[in-house]
Amino acid sequence: GALDNNELTLLYQPQVDLRSGLVVGAEALMRWHNSQLGVMRPDIFISHAESTGEIIRLGAWALREACMQVRRWRDEGHHTVRVAVNVSYRQFLADDLAGTVEAALSAAGIPGTALELEFTERVLIEDEPETLRTFAQLRELGVMLSIDDFGEGYSALNYLRRLPIHGLKLSQLFLQGVPGNGSDVAVCQAVSAIARSLGLGLVAEGVESEAQRQFLLQLGVPVGQGFLFAPGLSPDEFARRLEAAQELLSNA
Ligand code: C2E
Ligand code: MG
Ligand code: MG
Repeated sequence: GALDNNELTLLYQPQVDLRSGLVVGAEALMRWHNSQLGVMRPDIFISHAESTGEIIRLGAWALREACMQVRRWRDEGHHTVRVAVNVSYRQFLADDLAGTVEAALSAAGIPGTALELEFTERVLIEDEPETLRTFAQLRELGVMLSIDDFGEGYSALNYLRRLPIHGLKLSQLFLQGVPGNGSDVAVCQAVSAIARSLGLGLVAEGVESEAQRQFLLQLGVPVGQGFLFAPGLSPDEFARRLEAAQELLSNA
């Protein structure tokens, strides 16, 4: 009933240029506010919704809501950035995902280039013939496609050269041990090298310390998100960040 009771919201975590600190994007993160259970983070309910299939409705809502939020920011006169929405593997299998995305974009009157979709390696493992077609349709819409938590699952390198994707997200799992843990450092270097040699973008997740930021800059990773910069923010808080960034730019 969470959807019908309007208990869901999206928070927006800034993705920042690691050098300048300017906001260059956002990731929409779902929250469930329940009167009895309080505010719940998605780790608790997404996997359950995936097993029941409810994720298809929740995911479609997130797509519509994120697109509408971009519309609202634009209507309020904010300079906007691309918003990334997480998409479950179930949405790829069971839904006309490209159709849902297209409808969300057109309802909000925004171009596909304003949207990014993050999906996990699970999508690649399911290896449905439909998947390739869906990717092609999404790309046709101008939507950016990224693999979330890259390296955490079953990194099928074979897919990286076949799929029309734009970028990878370096899992916070590996960044946690940086710069102290040698094997975490090695994995970050390897993922960064894979992204660079395949011409893919790379966003580092879970940047919590200045030492991690410095490490990523040395690796040549351009963009990061994490508590060092901001957690997920309400739409108003996020808009204030955008404004601050614009001011900095116009004073520069
Ligand atoms: P994710 O897509 O990898 O999102 C990043 C998670 O890391 C978020 O947790 C975020 O709040 C958290 N995070 C951000 N910066 C830091 C940091 O510096 N340190 C640490 N320790 N954590 C950080 P959240 O919001 O609890 O989301 C968890 C996962 O739930 C997401 O992981 C994503 O896979 C899934 N999820 C969230 N929203 C949606 C949605 O709308 N649809 C679907 N299918 N999945 C979603
Ligand atoms: Mg994500
Ligand atoms: Mg992630």
